[in-house]
Formats: sequence, C-alpha cells, structure tokens
Amino acid sequence: MNEQAIAEAPAAVTPADFKSGVKPVWCPGCGDFGVVNALGKALARMQLHPENVAVVSGIGCSSRIPAYTSCYGFHGVHGRSLPTATGLKIARPDLTVIVTGGDGDGYSIGGNHFLHACRRNVDMTYIVMDNRVYGMTKGQSSPTTEPEWNSKLTPRGTGLREFQPMVIALASGANFIARAFTGDPNALADVLVQAIQNPGFSFVEVLSPCITYRPEQRHWKKQVQRDALKPSVDAADAAMQVLRNDPLALGVLYRGGRAPYDPRSHAPAAQPVSELEKRFTV
Ligand code: SF4
Repeated sequence: MNEQAIAEAPAAVTPADFKSGVKPVWCPGCGDFGVVNALGKALARMQLHPENVAVVSGIGCSSRIPAYTSCYGFHGVHGRSLPTATGLKIARPDLTVIVTGGDGDGYSIGGNHFLHACRRNVDMTYIVMDNRVYGMTKGQSSPTTEPEWNSKLTPRGTGLREFQPMVIALASGANFIARAFTGDPNALADVLVQAIQNPGFSFVEVLSPCITYRPEQRHWKKQVQRDALKPSVDAADAAMQVLRNDPLALGVLYRGGRAPYDPRSHAPAAQPVSELEKRFTV
C-alpha cells in the first residue's frame, strides 16, 4: 500500500472507541466491569462503529452499561428493556441492538417480556448479567437465587426453586443461547461476537459476580466449567444439557435455524387515506 492509500484508509475501530469516558459507579471488583470491556472488544472485532450500535437497558447495577459506552443508549424502566429494544430494531433495522440487564430486571419484573422476546425472534442480542441477587437494592433474593441461600433478608433461604433462564429461552424460541463468565473477557467477547452475528434473538447468560452481596461468587473463577456445554441445533438436546450439567457450565448451547422476524412481510399494504375514509362513511 502506498503512502497516500495508507493516509486515506479508514482507521480501524478499537475497544477504546466504545468507551464513553463516564466512570462506572460499580463496586470495585464487580463482575459487570468485565462485561462492558468484553462488549467493547466484541464490537471492535466486528469493526462496528459506535454510531451504528444501540445499547438498551432497564434498571439495576448492570443496567447502567449504556452510560459507559459511546454507542447510542437508552436506560429505561425496570424490566422493560426488551420491548423498547424490539420497537427500536423494528424501526431502525440498520442498527445493531444490544440489550443489557440483570437477573432481577430480566427474569422478575421483565420475565414476561423475556418469554415474548424469545418467541418474536427479532434480531438483537440480550446479555443478562446473572449474580443471583438484587445488588442495587442491597441484596434481596432474585429469581435465580439458590433456594438455600441464607441472608439477613431471607434467613434459612427462600426455599423457592430457581428460574432456569436457558431452558425457558429454548422453550420460548430464542435462536442463539450461550452461558459465559465475565472473568474471561476474551472468551466472553468471542461468545458475544457469535451472538451478535447470529440472526434473530440471541440470549447470553453471563455469570457476573456481585462481590458485595454474594462474596462467595469470587470463587466462580475456579468453579466455572469452561466449554462444558456443546453447541446443538436440537432444542430438546440443549435443554437436557442445561438440566444435567452444573449451573456453572459454560459454552455456546444452541444455534437455531429460525428466520428473524421481518416486519416487512407482515406489514399491511399501504392504502390511500381517501380509501380508508370511505370505510368509515356513515
Ligand atoms: Fe456489582 Fe453487586 Fe456492587 Fe452492584 S452491588 S455494583 S452488582 S458488586
């Protein structure tokens, strides 16, 4: 390449281009730092530009991520990130839409939206940072908290069965499903690239320790089982893998073959207003 061509070549996008400069207010050591870093790595690997990416969230510690990226961002209402992102993607299919949030936001108040986002299969990526606790509101049990977790608010545990997000996502129709760990940012970035590039609704459950209210999760670094889940195209086989494996088993679990929802194929044919008016003439 001659000097002029080098001068005219567009500069490569780097992970630093996706940082907003806003300093995160997370507790030092929170797993969510690794997710925002891995997201920047993944977007840079795909050479996407911040102005072509939108990050949408709800409420909670992990839902602060839109402020920490230089992409378009929407920090919305508790549990409502998925319908907001769905509307955005339908209106602006040219954008890469990423949805971020936690287990409380996504599986409790947002649980109904999770089911229907999987079912609708709109082309976007949902990253849930699961720490099995409500961190921002000081340590209540969440839908994925273990029944025996003993805390000041739930002495002797809740006794309630944990929600199984990956199995629910499979049953509801998500087109790509994986579990990753925030302590391995390069491996997490690899999974995020696959999720974003896979057409349709992609769901990535990221084990992201809350070192303040679940300090025992610091041990996840040694306990996670890397590549224990094997990619499958069969939803029943994938569901059995989740149910039979340890809850800290990692890997890409499922790649489906459903075409993403295309609003153009369902839009009513345009009619002149004068024709519509005739139908309402008394
Ligand atoms: Fe992270 Fe937990 Fe602190 Fe929230 S409370 S910032 S989840 S460590």
